[in-house]
Amino acid sequence: DIRVAGVTKEFGDLAALHDVHLDVRPGELLALLGPSGSGKTTLLRTIAGLVQADRGQVLFGGLDATHLPVQKRQVGFVFQHYALFKHMSVADNIAYGLQVRERAKRPSRAEIRRRTSELLDLVQLSGYENRFPAQLSGGQRQRVALARALAVEPRVLLLDEPFGALDAKVRKDLRAWLRDIHERTGKTTVFVTHDQDEALELADRVAVLNLGRLEQVGTPDEVQDQPATPFVMTFLGQAT
Ligand code: ATP
Repeated sequence: DIRVAGVTKEFGDLAALHDVHLDVRPGELLALLGPSGSGKTTLLRTIAGLVQADRGQVLFGGLDATHLPVQKRQVGFVFQHYALFKHMSVADNIAYGLQVRERAKRPSRAEIRRRTSELLDLVQLSGYENRFPAQLSGGQRQRVALARALAVEPRVLLLDEPFGALDAKVRKDLRAWLRDIHERTGKTTVFVTHDQDEALELADRVAVLNLGRLEQVGTPDEVQDQPATPFVMTFLGQAT
């Protein structure tokens, strides 16, 4: 579905990404795992079109998207500190992406209402339509953020440490919840985390990054049982 082909990104002398090759398969949940500064966010932002690679290509469905602007990539985001619009209700936050579409593509009001309530149901927040972000817990806010990202029916969901700011208990609950949502929507998802347990428990496949290089891509079992490099062995060794 998405192909990252030989992407290099430098910030001054520092190679944040070095010749990264990665295929994201249709419908999979892929975790980008690595320590702080390993290039996870830069890789996610390159896929999104928020960062331009110095070398290499990004392809969507076989088509070169390297220079396609972010608005045209059909990606949905959730960031660690996702700013919902504070002055808008939950329903309006979710519907925002639909309402700002050009007139011809804008769904009717009834359709927007139907879709919003379907999404609230999916993220288990039915009945919260008229609340404001300040009246929600951190975990609930991230669930609204996910509903908002899904509202525009993106071809891919990009999640950058979406639970990073939450406490351990809430993070754990949200893992199972996200896995469940993923199974129900079947949406291709790339998920950034520095938490080995989170990656190994949630993901179909894990891509391990270190100092801008992709060390290994494999299923949780593969990267744990057959680490391809000493780094992967040491990094995952810390988890268990
Ligand atoms: P973290 O888990 O801490 O968010 P990360 O794995 O997501 O880390 P990146 O944010 O991708 O890492 O950063 C990779 C490297 O690139 C880091 O050394 C970072 O300092 C550097 N970097 C990222 N963005 C920029 C920028 N806009 N300008 C300069 N350096 C940058």
